[in-house]
Amino acid sequence: MDDPAILGGPPVRPDGPPDWPMAEPAVRASLEAAIADGSWGKYQGPAVPALEEALAAFQCVPHVLTCASGTLAGEAALRALGVRAGDEVILSAYDYEANFLNVHAIGARPVLVDVDPCNANLDPDRLEAAITPTTKAILVSHLHGGIVPMSRLREIADRHGIPVLEDAAQATGATVEGRRAGSWGDVGIVSFGGSKLLSAGRGGALFTSKPELLQRARLWLSRGIQQWAALSELQACVLLPQLSRLPERTAHRRKQVVLLHDQLGDVLGLTLFENSAADCEPAYYKVGFFLDADRFGLDRELFVKAMRAEGIAFDVGFRALQMGRGASRFRAAGSLEHAETAHARVVMLHHPVLSLGPEEVEKVALAVRKTYRNAERLRGS
Ligand SMILES: *Cc1c(COP(=O)(O)O)cnc(C)c1O
Repeated sequence: MDDPAILGGPPVRPDGPPDWPMAEPAVRASLEAAIADGSWGKYQGPAVPALEEALAAFQCVPHVLTCASGTLAGEAALRALGVRAGDEVILSAYDYEANFLNVHAIGARPVLVDVDPCNANLDPDRLEAAITPTTKAILVSHLHGGIVPMSRLREIADRHGIPVLEDAAQATGATVEGRRAGSWGDVGIVSFGGSKLLSAGRGGALFTSKPELLQRARLWLSRGIQQWAALSELQACVLLPQLSRLPERTAHRRKQVVLLHDQLGDVLGLTLFENSAADCEPAYYKVGFFLDADRFGLDRELFVKAMRAEGIAFDVGFRALQMGRGASRFRAAGSLEHAETAHARVVMLHHPVLSLGPEEVEKVALAVRKTYRNAERLRGS
């Protein structure tokens, strides 16, 4: 009974991780309405403008521009902020790789700063030392349930007159010090990719309160009378009902993470990300943990493999951006030791299981505890 699934025991979730997105009657109804009125096949229809308006209200930001992906929204945002070839853009050494590559795509240079050791997210206290006269923007992401203290970051950016791009692709619906994640940046972005909290398979959006930044992003995304790589009516139409239920769903996921945390209290070596900023409500696209292999008794790859065998969607975290890259591809601003630790230790639980009932979170905890108890046997296997 206690045999880990990887050693032939019964998996905790025999059907594997829940599928995403989940079946949703409101999405079906919205699609049927688009089929009924013919907007499914048109360039222009009611859904894209309605989504942009709803997102603006949700984010409390006046201007929204949708496009084909979160990555594209990120490049449009950097260009709108005036980043050009030869400029420097500061970002965390532990970040989504496409953000780093977007900086390269413009011909600018990524400047990497170290992370907060409590949550592997950008540490604002490292920013000041990274700023030079060629710094053109600061790019900041909230990752794996970690939240960057944005009032502190904004204070530093504003003092130096440097604009901020805030990536809320993993924190869509989160609040950061009382404001919506993505609304602290001069430009904020989200993704509607197939695994994301709001999903249309593909898609992204950019937010700003500055009309000139909206205008520049719009111009760069236009060719002639059309926007290239736009979000379609059908994509907008499946996103609208998801957006209206996002607050309730985010609150549900948050409750589930508290429950999970409570149930893992006596497991040594697996530590949930902690947030230092007050008044933060993460959205948990992923739930980030540090796995200390010595204390847990298993290395990270084997832990993930064992959890996957139990039907629980754990993965290893990101590769730190300085790892395996030539020194000409970035500049390191100071030591990146905590990012290197994150590179070696982060594991993340993917969000769909959190949308189910509390009994499913108990199964996640059960699988972790089973793996922990059997660490020695698993090591020898
Ligand atoms: C998913 C993601 C994006 C953008 O994703 P697309 O797949 O291009 O829409 C950007 N930043 C982070 C942190 C992400 O997780």
